[in-house]
Amino acid sequence: MMAAATAAALGARVTLIEKNEKLGKKLFLTGKGRCNVTNAAGREAFFANLCVNGKFLYSAFSDFDCQAIEDFLTRAGCPLKTERGDRVFPRSDHSSDVIAAFSRELAARGVEVFLKTRVSKLLWKESAGAEPAGQKQITGVVLSDGRNLEASAVILCTGGLSYPSTGSTGDGYAFAAEAGHSVTALSPGLVPLRIRESWCAELMGLSLRNVEACLREDGREVFRGFGELLFTHFGVSGPLILSASSRLGRGDGTGKKGRKTEKTLSIDLKPALDMEQLDRRLLRDFGENSGRQFKNALGDLLPARLIPVMVRLSGIDPQTRVNEITRQTRRAFADLVKHLPLTVEGTAGYEEAVITRGGVSVREVNPSTMESKKAKGLYFAGEVLDLDAMTGGFNLQIAWSTGHLAGQSSVSRFSGKQNGSKGEIK
Ligand SMILES: Cc1cc2nc3c(=O)[nH]c(=O)nc-3n(C[C@H](O)[C@H](O)[C@H](O)COP(=O)(O)OP(=O)(O)OC[C@H]3O[C@@H](n4cnc5c(N)ncnc54)[C@H](O)[C@@H]3O)c2cc1C
Repeated sequence: MMAAATAAALGARVTLIEKNEKLGKKLFLTGKGRCNVTNAAGREAFFANLCVNGKFLYSAFSDFDCQAIEDFLTRAGCPLKTERGDRVFPRSDHSSDVIAAFSRELAARGVEVFLKTRVSKLLWKESAGAEPAGQKQITGVVLSDGRNLEASAVILCTGGLSYPSTGSTGDGYAFAAEAGHSVTALSPGLVPLRIRESWCAELMGLSLRNVEACLREDGREVFRGFGELLFTHFGVSGPLILSASSRLGRGDGTGKKGRKTEKTLSIDLKPALDMEQLDRRLLRDFGENSGRQFKNALGDLLPARLIPVMVRLSGIDPQTRVNEITRQTRRAFADLVKHLPLTVEGTAGYEEAVITRGGVSVREVNPSTMESKKAKGLYFAGEVLDLDAMTGGFNLQIAWSTGHLAGQSSVSRFSGKQNGSKGEIK
């Protein structure tokens, strides 16, 4: 939508082809229905929150940054507000208002929108002229009803593989591959983790706020963060875990030598207390519960549902009187509270992944224009590219920045733009 609106504003005749019955189906779900449009923390924060290929986005972000999307939406009648963590949302708290703003802009700029229309193939011819032998020239797209639509440029913004019910079913990867592009290993990103320890299922639905998670791969720390964790029937989820998942090795989870990496997650249930402070706290709690059984003396320290699990994992007889617990045993329990160990078996699937990691290799795309280096007139934008970021509005910012640059350069490559003849963009 951003690419189409931009190209049309520059005078191109643009057709937006969407296979769903409406625009922005995934956008509607974003930010739990509120759409975290971008992040207002600025350039440094944007690049710090990208997981890969940051340099590729220098031009796109300079061309259209977080302020630019804020201005765009505000002008289009969708006022915004900034919340904790510099996350920007529509003032109305409705993602539908972002979609409505885009729909109005597309209409005002004369973009023709084809809904319920699927692209099934790209059309090209061998490029004439001084280009390297075999370079392609895009000539349009084939629709699933067999019709050909001619175009002097095609911008591929088909998204990734996550939440396939929203229309992101990976079609763009196949189109890109046919045009000669490499697609890097794909995997679910910002996704819950599957955990070996079956006790997680017992805690399904329990949410722990203000815990610290440390994720290690083959013993090497790849993520440490603080926030909210949620137990699920297969493992752990919640904002903290989604962030952690994006720091796992990419691809199929096998290391460089093709061996599956060992992934462990250690949860600190009391990150505000160091070991000494926690030990003193336990001593105090035990003192106040003197004579009671261990299983009945943890109510102030841990959520009720977690207590039986922690007691079991500690190996301490639940009926032991707290005044009989030795210093050594108490310290071992404190250590468990600070380092609750979990074994990561893998991630959940694309159905539950916020984004797709991997995509069309950015090495074969010109970062100053988003044009393919393999096929003239073919442009890319958004999640179909090998780009991904942490939560906080950064993934949509990638889509806005690359979409704007692709829309702009797909038009400016035509000398026709200067002399008044219009390029045709699909
Ligand atoms: C639940 C959820 C919440 C999220 N929340 C946020 C958030 O708050 N902030 C944030 O920054 N990011 C968020 N994201 C990530 C963000 O939504 C994506 O990164 C972003 O939508 C990618 O935009 P895109 O245009 O590249 O792809 P998409 O939004 O996936 O759009 C691709 C479109 O192409 C269409 N399409 C695909 N193939 C074809 C074809 N062959 N023919 C015609 N049409 C086709 C699809 O139907 C789809 O409408 C969230 C993602 C999910 C799943």
